[in-house]
Amino acid sequence: MERVFRNSSYLNAMSTTGTKTRVRDVNPQSGMCPLCIRECPFLCEIGLSTFRGREVLYPDPEYFGESTASSLKDYGLDWSHVQILSSLRGAEGIEPDPDKMLFPNVSVETEIGGVKLKMPIAMGAYGSTDIARKYWDGLAVGAALAGVILIVGENVCGVDPASEFSNGKVIRSPEMERRIKLFREFWDGRYGDVAVQTNIEDQRMGVDEYVVSKLEVNIVERKWGQGAKAIGGEIRVRSLERAIELKRRGYLVLPDPEDPEVQQAFKDGLFKSFERHSRVGSPKATDVIEDVEKLREMGAKVVTIKTGAYRPIDVAWTLRVASEAKVDY
Ligand code: SF4
Repeated sequence: MERVFRNSSYLNAMSTTGTKTRVRDVNPQSGMCPLCIRECPFLCEIGLSTFRGREVLYPDPEYFGESTASSLKDYGLDWSHVQILSSLRGAEGIEPDPDKMLFPNVSVETEIGGVKLKMPIAMGAYGSTDIARKYWDGLAVGAALAGVILIVGENVCGVDPASEFSNGKVIRSPEMERRIKLFREFWDGRYGDVAVQTNIEDQRMGVDEYVVSKLEVNIVERKWGQGAKAIGGEIRVRSLERAIELKRRGYLVLPDPEDPEVQQAFKDGLFKSFERHSRVGSPKATDVIEDVEKLREMGAKVVTIKTGAYRPIDVAWTLRVASEAKVDY
C-alpha cells in the first residue's frame, strides 16, 4: 500500500496522477529513484511531466466529473493535534441543569452575518464542476433540511450551455435556476439560505444582478482567488464545440480550441479534454468598498467574501478591507 511520507518523496509517485516509482527507497527531496535508469518501465511524476508538462498539475483528467480531490501533503499539523475539552461547570446551548443537559437537547444554533443557522456550517462552494451539477440534489435538499448555508460556486451561468445572454450579460441560466429553486423547495425560510458566489467572469456577465433581481437570492459571496492555488478555478471540457463556446464567453481555455492545429490534435485523440480556467482577482480597497455598496443597492441582503489561503499580510489586509466595507462575513 502506498504511504505518504512527511518529506517530499511522495511528489514523484501519486495516485492522483497514476504515477509510480521503480524502487521504494527514493530521494527524500525529489522522490526520484537513486538510480534513474534508461530502460525504466515505470511512469513517475518526473517522467509524466516531461511528456505532458503543466497538464500534470491537474489530477488524472479521466476522473473529472466522477471524483473529488484531497491533498497528499502532510503539513505537520492536523486535527489529531487538537483536543476539544469540555467544561465541567456551566453549559452552552442548554440550561445547566443535569436533567436538561442531555446531549440530544443541546442547541448548536448560531447566526452568521444575520443568517440564522441550525448548526454552524456554510457549505460550499459548488460551482461549475460536473460533480457539483450531478450531486446538487443531495447537497441542496440536505443543506435546506439541515438549516445551513449552501453556496452555489462560481461560473455556473458561464458554463451552463443553455444560458441566455443579452449584450454580454446573462439573462437566464436554467442550471442556476434549478439550483436555487431546489434549495428553496425544502427550505423552511428561517434557518440557513442559499448563497451565490461570483468571481471576475461572473461579475462581467452580470451574474450578481441576475441572481439578486430575477432569482431573489439574498446572499452574494465575492470570490478572491482559490483555496489551494493562485490560479483560477478549473474544469475539464471534453467537446471541441463547448471549448470554443467557453472561450468566446470570456474564459481562458487551454490549449486554444480555435487553433486549427489544436483542433486537429484533439480530433486525432492526442488529448481528450480542454482545461477551462477562470481569472483570479487583484482587489483594491476602494473598489471593494464600492463593490459591496453596489451589491447592496442591487438588493443583496448579505454580502460575504471568500478568499484562499494567502500570505498573512493578505489575510490581514482582507480583514481590514472587509471590515471597512462592512461585509457581513
Ligand atoms: S524514470 Fe527514473 S525516477 Fe522515474 S521511476 Fe523510472 S527510474 Fe525512477
